[in-house]
Amino acid sequence: MSEVIFRNGTILTIDADHRVLAGDVACLDGVITQVGGTYTPQTHDYQIVDCAGCIVMPGLVQAHVHTCQTLARGRADDLELLDWLRQVIWPYEAALDAEAAGASAELACAELLLGGTTSILDMGTVHHTDAIFDAAERAGIRATIGKAMMDAADPQIPVGLRESTRASLDESARLIERWHGGAGGRLRYAYAPRFVLSCTDELLREVGVQARARGVRIHTHASENHGEIALVRERFGTDNVLVLDQLGLLGEHCTIAHCIHLSGPERRLLAERGAHVCHCPSSNLKLASGICDVPALIAAGVSVAIGADGAPCNNNLDGFLELRLAALLHKQRGGPRALPAPEVVRLATLGGAAAVGLADRIGSLELGKRGDVIAVDVTPLHTIPTASPWSAITYAAKACDVRHVAVDGALVVRDAELLTVDVAQIQDRAVRSAHRMFR
Ligand SMILES: [Zn+2]
Repeated sequence: MSEVIFRNGTILTIDADHRVLAGDVACLDGVITQVGGTYTPQTHDYQIVDCAGCIVMPGLVQAHVHTCQTLARGRADDLELLDWLRQVIWPYEAALDAEAAGASAELACAELLLGGTTSILDMGTVHHTDAIFDAAERAGIRATIGKAMMDAADPQIPVGLRESTRASLDESARLIERWHGGAGGRLRYAYAPRFVLSCTDELLREVGVQARARGVRIHTHASENHGEIALVRERFGTDNVLVLDQLGLLGEHCTIAHCIHLSGPERRLLAERGAHVCHCPSSNLKLASGICDVPALIAAGVSVAIGADGAPCNNNLDGFLELRLAALLHKQRGGPRALPAPEVVRLATLGGAAAVGLADRIGSLELGKRGDVIAVDVTPLHTIPTASPWSAITYAAKACDVRHVAVDGALVVRDAELLTVDVAQIQDRAVRSAHRMFR
């Protein structure tokens, strides 16, 4: 039995009524046992973290990241998607070995946890997925990870990333066997066909069948870039979302990153199937891909989450930066109320939880849910005076304001220090690995 008590903060519950409470949030053996008021410890094995001056809220859930790409931060600036992939990212991923993949994922997990992201949906590369799971397990983050699937006979894909349909499915099955449900349910698997262009029809169809049979999620990219969409139309005669549906991938268990250039029928189909979209505003702007019409998706009934994507297209993994940008970006087209602050905070927490299939377990601070909790300090100069906690979190707070973090009811960050892994060692390993990779 172990207890963690976040004492005396302002609590954003993200419950159905968006209640804001004062007092304690307590977790006993991983489960939230009190939200608000003053908590009396039930055992002798308890830790109290002081949250005076903090907003206590559910950890951010980023439903689209690539932790294996972190070592390529700053190496692929000012390119559009297909050039970015072909000139830098695919050659980089082809050159990754297990050591570099582990160093990259470890760096990402540390940045994410210290910045208040407690849960991720992560797309790896074709190989070395065990090293990514290892890093997530050690860091203590809640992670749903999948190997990138790339069996298409595309001469633009480096040899090191090409795989056969059979090998792609077999490796996915092995990883599910080894990792899905691991670390007390904190680690899970998701099939990750990179995008329809990197996969054969046969592979995509089989992913649709096996994901349903095994109860595993699907994580992919779609409709990010005009060039990509033109190639999809050339090959399939129709658009991304319709292709994914025809091949049996679309459903409540499917999360699609980007979805920038969608038709009305595609939006309606996403809503009808209950599929999730992950909005990645920094990445979409940096790759000059466009702006996903999030208000239109929400109006159509589509479940939306937020993510930083990878370090080479962002170049941070800062969930607060994405939250702020998501709140600002849609005002240009939809007016000042296009995406109000409480709605953006909900997308970044409960929306993300839904996109990883865990809305019944994380994403809000409610009794019986798992203890994924963060405390954000709102006493720094750039956040005072704090008129509204929704405004502070959406428009003013930064990742560096995160003071305490618990995942599954266990403290992983206390007083802005990572407790699970040694940050100096991670920095050293990342810099050495990046140097070796890009020599
Ligand atoms: Zn991505």
